[in-house]
Amino acid sequence: MSGVRQFHWRGMRVPFIARWSREDQRQYPIERRPSLTGDGIGYPDEDPRADRRDGVLWVRMPVVRGIGEPYLASVHALRQRQCMNHMLCQICGESTFTHSGGRHLFLMRGAKGQPIREGEKTAVPPVHEACAAEAVRLCPHLRKGWVAARVEYAPPWGVAGIVYDSQTLQPLPAERGRELEFVGLDDPRLRWTLAARDVVALHGCTPVELDELAAAAAH
Ligand SMILES: [Zn+2]
Repeated sequence: MSGVRQFHWRGMRVPFIARWSREDQRQYPIERRPSLTGDGIGYPDEDPRADRRDGVLWVRMPVVRGIGEPYLASVHALRQRQCMNHMLCQICGESTFTHSGGRHLFLMRGAKGQPIREGEKTAVPPVHEACAAEAVRLCPHLRKGWVAARVEYAPPWGVAGIVYDSQTLQPLPAERGRELEFVGLDDPRLRWTLAARDVVALHGCTPVELDELAAAAAH
């Protein structure tokens, strides 16, 4: 373990991907961006290096982790992306590559008895065994039910974000009551999407139980 500073709040470690109060998520104007390969959305004052990733427009957000109060139930979009891109632990921010014999542990909310399916898409980054055991014990969201799997391969699938209407340039509601719409890399709506999460697909999944996590964390 090295480098990434850890913060605590009311007796609990603050997850690396949690958003802090000074990292406000402001709305910026969106405009139509004509292109020979197809129109989409853009910022009027866009900086392609900072505002786009692989051609996809991303939300703008200050990065001042550790300042103000943490919002434990809120995710910082750019740290989430950093975790997915580099397979960093969502709790401590360190690499998960050195653990589990090359496989990555994924932990997410879900009903018990409904294991993570092969090819399932997720915006929840990987986690270490010890960090997962701690999260399961302390996080009120996870206490309601969680599922975990060791995953062999988690390739990029797309993004989760707000899809804009190509005619009105108004945000469209996400499907199935979700906060964010999942949009695949081959989906034509990608040009009209303001991305807020990276999404990977989970392959080679082996379910993990709580006592297994606790045992792994003890070593
Ligand atoms: Zn960790």
